[in-house]
Amino acid sequence: MLKLIQAPNLFLAILWADTLTADGIDASVQRQYLGGAAGELPPDQCLPEVWIQHANQEPRARDLLHHLQHLPQHKWFCRCGELVEGGFEQCWSCGALMSGQA
Ligand SMILES: [Zn+2]
Repeated sequence: MLKLIQAPNLFLAILWADTLTADGIDASVQRQYLGGAAGELPPDQCLPEVWIQHANQEPRARDLLHHLQHLPQHKWFCRCGELVEGGFEQCWSCGALMSGQA
């Protein structure tokens, strides 16, 4: 297991891990809750982290992450009327692809 990156929020951590997994990299989201009350921890101790299983996949994983982090913020209306946010290129409501819209 190798820590790849700390995400600013759980949503992004899951998105990144899912994207890596979809590309064949064994990635998972870990959250560090160390012992003691939350108030005693530095804030960054509670942020989610993306870990990968195999260290030899790190260069590829970092390359993918780099692309993910530099994507323009996608926000688009699907033809079914759903507002899709967060970098998804597929509508979660009807399954249409962003590139498929007019
Ligand atoms: Zn849709």
